[in-house]
Amino acid sequence: MDLYIVLGLAHGATEADIKRAYRRLARRFHPDINPGDRVAEARFRQILDAYETLMDPQRRSRYDAGQGFEQNEQRTKSGFEGFDFSERGAEHSATFGDLFAEVLSERGGRTPAPERGADLHVDLDLTFEEALAGVERAVAVTRRETCRVCAGSGATRVSRGPCHLCQGTGAVRSVRGHMVFTRNCTSCGGSGEQRPRPCERCGGAGQEARSETVTLQIPAGVADGERVRAQGKGNAGIRGGASGDLYVAIHVAPHPSFHRDGDDVHTIVPIAIHEAALGARVEIETPDGPARLRVPPGTQSGQRFRLRERGAPSRRDGRRGDLVVEVRLMLPKVLDERSKELLREFGRINGEMGRT
Ligand SMILES: [Zn+2]
Ligand SMILES: [Zn+2]
Repeated sequence: MDLYIVLGLAHGATEADIKRAYRRLARRFHPDINPGDRVAEARFRQILDAYETLMDPQRRSRYDAGQGFEQNEQRTKSGFEGFDFSERGAEHSATFGDLFAEVLSERGGRTPAPERGADLHVDLDLTFEEALAGVERAVAVTRRETCRVCAGSGATRVSRGPCHLCQGTGAVRSVRGHMVFTRNCTSCGGSGEQRPRPCERCGGAGQEARSETVTLQIPAGVADGERVRAQGKGNAGIRGGASGDLYVAIHVAPHPSFHRDGDDVHTIVPIAIHEAALGARVEIETPDGPARLRVPPGTQSGQRFRLRERGAPSRRDGRRGDLVVEVRLMLPKVLDERSKELLREFGRINGEMGRT
């Protein structure tokens, strides 16, 4: 028995070739898939011997040098009943775990669990006003969605039956001189059955990337650094799993006059000396537009006034925060003679003004 021929491989086959050939053949001949079939069992025993020998570099080089190979005694004597695969190395356990999952899913015995689609993340820049008022924004997102051609199966539809190319034998023979070469049928991959080809659109993944415009409703009062979730707008799920979500990271541009502190909005308003001293109604800018602030007589620089519910809408209950106005006393840069004269007079009357 030629171990390479058992696996349908050329002599220079790589480790990856061997693994691939083994998996393909094991899916066809494994005793658990063919219960009571002695022929399949014998074939699988050969496949396993070939695989174990060729995957072990030392055993492979001994075999290649013509020193034969060791058959697994335990397996040869007892067949597969009660054979404990778990005693084998981690390498084999993994292979068998994967193999069984694949086989079971193919047989419909147990389909793999649905998988939720991945979440997606986008950034969104807003002006200060947009963040305060809320805004509807369209963003372009590239999402993975269920393939429209294969409806997510990843395969083209084919009828069941023997492979046309190899008539179901799984191998194609060619004659060169007096030598007969046998190689795996490329159409069915050696299984002998018509194999569904991978979907041409998605390459078998069952999903395709699609660019989509998602309309986002950004709630009023959203703050810089906040994340807004658009449910179900992430990647599509696999095998009927739920779609992921789209997370929108909010970036709010700084405003020249306002800054947020929670739901309160702060602003600084310059006032003149006579307004501070005598009191005045000064026009100020608020997030809702111009308004008048009543500055009482004797207002000090740095004093703060709170305008109730003129700040940002709270994301908790929709109630608005306050607008906090800090007044700063500003002197004109250049004073005319008349103003200077009046200030000197003011100084004479008020003296040191309590700086004692
Ligand atoms: Zn497809
Ligand atoms: Zn074929």
